[in-house]
Amino acid sequence: MTSRDNDVLATPLPRVLGGKTADAFRKGLGLETVGDLLRHYPRRYAERGEVTDLGALAEGEQVTVVAQVQSVTTRPMRQRRGSILEAVISDGRESMTLTFFNQKWRERELRPGRTGLFAGQVGRYRGALQLAHPEFSLFADGVEADELAVLDFAGKLIPIYGAARGVTSWQVNAAVDVVLPLIDGVVDPVPEEVRVARGLMPLGDALWGIHRPTTREVVDAAVARLRFEEAFVLQVLLAQRRAATRALSATRRVPESSSLVEAFDARLPFALTPGQLMVSEQIADDMAAEHPMHRLLQGDVGSGKTVVAVRAMLRVVDAGGQAALLAPTEVLAAQHHRSITALLGPLAERGLLGGSDVGTRVALLTGSQRTSERRSQLLDVVTGDAGIVVGTHALLQEHVDFHDLALVVVDEQHRFGVEQRAALAAKSREGTRPHVLVMTATPIPRTVAMTTFGDVDVSTLAEVPAGRSPVATHVIVAPEQPGHLARAWQRVREEVAQGHRVFVVCPRIGDTVDATGGEDPGEAGPEEEGRKAAGVLELAAQLQEGPLSDVRLGVLHGRMPAEEKEDTMRRFADPQAGDALDVLVATTVVEVGVDVPQATMMVIVDADRFGISQLHQLRGRVGRGTLPGLCLLITDAEAGSPARARLDAVASTTDGFVLSELDLDLRREGDVLGTSQSGHRRTLRLLEVARHQEVIVDAREAAQQVVDADPTLATLPGLAQAVDALVRQDQADYLEKD
Ligand code: ADP
Ligand code: MG
Repeated sequence: MTSRDNDVLATPLPRVLGGKTADAFRKGLGLETVGDLLRHYPRRYAERGEVTDLGALAEGEQVTVVAQVQSVTTRPMRQRRGSILEAVISDGRESMTLTFFNQKWRERELRPGRTGLFAGQVGRYRGALQLAHPEFSLFADGVEADELAVLDFAGKLIPIYGAARGVTSWQVNAAVDVVLPLIDGVVDPVPEEVRVARGLMPLGDALWGIHRPTTREVVDAAVARLRFEEAFVLQVLLAQRRAATRALSATRRVPESSSLVEAFDARLPFALTPGQLMVSEQIADDMAAEHPMHRLLQGDVGSGKTVVAVRAMLRVVDAGGQAALLAPTEVLAAQHHRSITALLGPLAERGLLGGSDVGTRVALLTGSQRTSERRSQLLDVVTGDAGIVVGTHALLQEHVDFHDLALVVVDEQHRFGVEQRAALAAKSREGTRPHVLVMTATPIPRTVAMTTFGDVDVSTLAEVPAGRSPVATHVIVAPEQPGHLARAWQRVREEVAQGHRVFVVCPRIGDTVDATGGEDPGEAGPEEEGRKAAGVLELAAQLQEGPLSDVRLGVLHGRMPAEEKEDTMRRFADPQAGDALDVLVATTVVEVGVDVPQATMMVIVDADRFGISQLHQLRGRVGRGTLPGLCLLITDAEAGSPARARLDAVASTTDGFVLSELDLDLRREGDVLGTSQSGHRRTLRLLEVARHQEVIVDAREAAQQVVDADPTLATLPGLAQAVDALVRQDQADYLEKD
């Protein structure tokens, strides 16, 4: 029964529209089925006014008038080429003029004596009211009053559709006329009780309402209903995933004694914050359960996530298992390895001379390692001698045998999808999954967490450890403040003179034309418009010849061989190094996780090419020790431009949560959700994560109840189908992304 009904929405467009039109719809708008077309909602509605007397017109109003054509003349225009057609219309008492440019052919329709409806915005020309390019609909020849036609034409909302090459709004409109009558009895993915309890209309009514509204109220009600549906279907999917996670099994990791964790805490030169202790508790509880933890730990840069992660890893080592820490790049993996080894000190030297009794080892696995080195590290992993294994995300795909993988910590990755979690199954003991902790420094607004991350638990480190001074941030508009720019480089020299480190960040690597003569794509993904953004290579050369001739300057970018990057970072990070670097001119490779306590200053050149979150991340690289930090955002973006607004926002606060909300507002949710807007279709059309928090909360509750009652949706085929479609879309988007 239901399958037949829903087949209406699945019907390929060529079957109902004709091949050429359907082809244009597919190519231009990505619409393939009747359902796709009906989910291509109007972008907005134009309004025809109510029927108005000619005598009561006011300039600027949208009006519709019933009138008779009196006379029509066409004459050439005086100033420009082309012709102007003027028709005088009258309602018997008053008259006014209609004008059309270059439409002489309309003389054939607008013959004197014909009556009809004319709609448009009232304008004024040489003192007289007129309608320029009105829409009109003439009554049949000889008919002077046609009430039905008047009712049908006046006061209506005209849907305006998103158009594309080869497809006009008008064509979409006509196609919608063809398919709307086919959807009688279409199956609603929203169960009736859920719908009725909220006073929402059925799907069929909503589709009619949004495409063919009679009033604004109808549009609002239809949109409310369709928006709820988007939130609801998504939340049902997430509720099912939560249930699936609970159904998986994991080994409980409860240590008999927390000797490593305790020894580690005793080594720390500071006290853990209450937030760090609380999150550690949550993680310990999760890992004591028989199903895998899947927790997201978010906290601003410098909030102390790494310490929490290390404690979680040591806890599973205390319980006899192993932990893997995955970083997004080799540079960061190597750095994590360095900093964890340093934090652990003798605790990381088990079995080595001078190592502690309680202890473990920390292995590092990277693609660029020498074979012999890698082999010895792999051996530690396989035997379990290495309790902690650090590598890049590629570690999951690689053939690495763990002795007993208990916990995976994923650093700085927004989305650790279902597919990736499934890949973990192969890494752990038969039939079980490791516990997973994902860390991110890009704070995620609550509603985004509830949509994108609705199937994970979220912990937040809200406070930054005491004793850290905030980074002062200033915007320097280069063309207006050349003196400031010179002063900025002077300041860099002063910092260096005090033994501090300085980052200079550029959006691009530089004009290194490759062998094929191709352009350097850069690393920040700047909007390529107008002048090219500064490149690392040119700027480094300029600085070295000019204002920074007396400092030790290095470059770092993504195209350097891993070993060279590693070596450059070491020289920059280690104050004792004989070949130390004072200033690092770099791309965004320094964005995440890079930790150099002596770094006190960052200059971001062409800062307007970066997004808010990225700037905040970058800035988080300085002021990590106890020294105060300074960040200069250099731009030539004009005051009042959106780019300047972004920079001013970053300069105005160091609160990552405030910035992420702002960022979300400015970008809309598209990028955050990972559903790129460049694609034709988007899963969320009416639901804006930033604006519709109540809808999301409400839908989440409803979804949980529905899934609790019927986990497989066996009794709700319409909903099952909608969830299925979402999963397929989700996977397609996800695959596209990599
Ligand atoms: P995140 O990974 O969240 O950016 P880290 O864990 O790297 O932050 O911590 C940033 C810096 O703060 C490190 O130098 C770390 O040693 C220090 N730190 C962490 N926790 C505390 C604390 N409770 N008190 C003082 N300093 C801390
Ligand atoms: Mg960190």
